[in-house]
Amino acid sequence: MAVILGGGLGGLSTGYYLLKNGLYCNNLKVCLLEATDYCGGWIKSIRTKDYIFEQGPRTIRPKGPTGLNTLNMMQDLGLSEHVSAITPDHPAAKNRMIYVNKSLHLLPSSLKSVFKKNEPFSKPLIYAALNDLTQPHKSLNEDSIYNFVERRFGKEIADYAISPMICGICAGDAKEISVKFLMKTLFEYEQNHGSVIKGMVKSIFKENNNGNLEMSELAKRAKEERWNVYSLKGGLQIFPKTLMNYLKNKDIDIQLNSKVEELEFVDSSLVKVKKTDGQVLDASHVYSSIPSHVLAKLVNKQHPELAEHLKGIPFVTVGIVNLYFATDKPLVSPAFGFLVPPLENSPILGVVFDSCCIPDQNGTVLTVMLGGRWFNEKFGPDITKEELYNIAMKEIKSILKIEEKVAAFNVSILDKCIPQYVVGHYSRVDKIREYVQSKNLPLSLVGSSYDGVGINDVIYSAKAQVAQDCGQQ
Ligand SMILES: Cc1cc2nc3c(=O)[nH]c(=O)nc-3n(C[C@H](O)[C@H](O)[C@H](O)COP(=O)(O)OP(=O)(O)OC[C@H]3O[C@@H](n4cnc5c(N)ncnc54)[C@H](O)[C@@H]3O)c2cc1C
Repeated sequence: MAVILGGGLGGLSTGYYLLKNGLYCNNLKVCLLEATDYCGGWIKSIRTKDYIFEQGPRTIRPKGPTGLNTLNMMQDLGLSEHVSAITPDHPAAKNRMIYVNKSLHLLPSSLKSVFKKNEPFSKPLIYAALNDLTQPHKSLNEDSIYNFVERRFGKEIADYAISPMICGICAGDAKEISVKFLMKTLFEYEQNHGSVIKGMVKSIFKENNNGNLEMSELAKRAKEERWNVYSLKGGLQIFPKTLMNYLKNKDIDIQLNSKVEELEFVDSSLVKVKKTDGQVLDASHVYSSIPSHVLAKLVNKQHPELAEHLKGIPFVTVGIVNLYFATDKPLVSPAFGFLVPPLENSPILGVVFDSCCIPDQNGTVLTVMLGGRWFNEKFGPDITKEELYNIAMKEIKSILKIEEKVAAFNVSILDKCIPQYVVGHYSRVDKIREYVQSKNLPLSLVGSSYDGVGINDVIYSAKAQVAQDCGQQ
């Protein structure tokens, strides 16, 4: 029997791909153990007739092989009708803002705007390209994304474009996050061709492929219509719910309220999976999709060296304040929302204008994200939900000039919810996998701790791990 640890999207996708691979092409039984009373992990939607509050993720990117792969899965699960796309002409695709020097600024979104001066940038963005072409070559194995962008395109791009973007993607500090997290290809262009732009020009002549991925009708539509991002009508939680039911119907044994506290590796095809209720399961293989810091505790007794590597992956805590204003007219301009560069030293990371990007909402729905990499230094470990709500409201009033009464709200403190791919992350993950292989441990690592923090990455990583293990059978 194979045991999957964790019923977030990583664990559920592992079950899905085990089924797609004919459960190792024989009659392998699969059991998924989830600590809480629901599947979906950080994906949690509160839905009423007037609004949807997303406590975790809300949109998915359709681009690239990983994005198209997710759309294939969506179609296979019968979710095509739920998909709500944001196309390039939608205000949420065109209007993304940053908050700098006490005002909101629209980020350039067209080629034309690159030749104009856009505040808070002091020069037209085309100068950044010139900077890249004239910088001397610097040979490096790795770098932070901030350093890389500052070197190639200048400090303002690093401060006002990349730093807030990193806050939006992983609530992290661009000065710590590896360049390979988001800009691996651009970094390779720099290292191989001396400049990002020179590398880009050379790559135009190379064939662009999607990793030989077969495309479903939904994936083809996303490509043809050039979707920017998409959400799911009724809330994103419908995705893990549907996936869970799909697995259950195909006889995968899903056990909720089943927290695992220890893994005891007996030999290369037997692991004793010990639950907190005293039950022990014999597994021939374990797929761990739980956060790396949790897995560290489970393996610490037998494999302290592995536990140390796993513990080395840092995580950040994010505060989420969802707000609903029962207004006839929207209280904010049509846009995706805004991000706040860390330079501003604000308690908030940004605000998403949900009523613009997610369909079927009455009134104005906003989500304020707080803390992230700076959660502890700004709020300390004991901040209450009420205090977070008050901080979020103060910022909303001051930045968006909203005075209306909130009709409904929800506050969540998501403890250690996003792993940080800091400089050195990828070699750490290699070391972790090398350790597992060298000790012949029947253990595969999936989920957001290792191969990408977004929904697409987590699904694709499950697919890749299962395919690799199937090849080894
Ligand atoms: C606030 C926020 C916003 C985000 N926004 C986006 C977005 O807009 N787009 C996007 O693509 N991605 C986004 N992400 C990332 C996305 O949510 C994650 O990539 C994805 O949900 C991670 O899934 P996972 O299965 O790896 O981990 P998790 O969701 O953490 O699932 C792990 C599961 O393991 C269970 N578990 C833990 N310990 C044990 C144990 N001992 N025994 C058994 N079970 C255990 C947990 O209960 C949980 O259900 C966001 C994340 C957050 C936190």
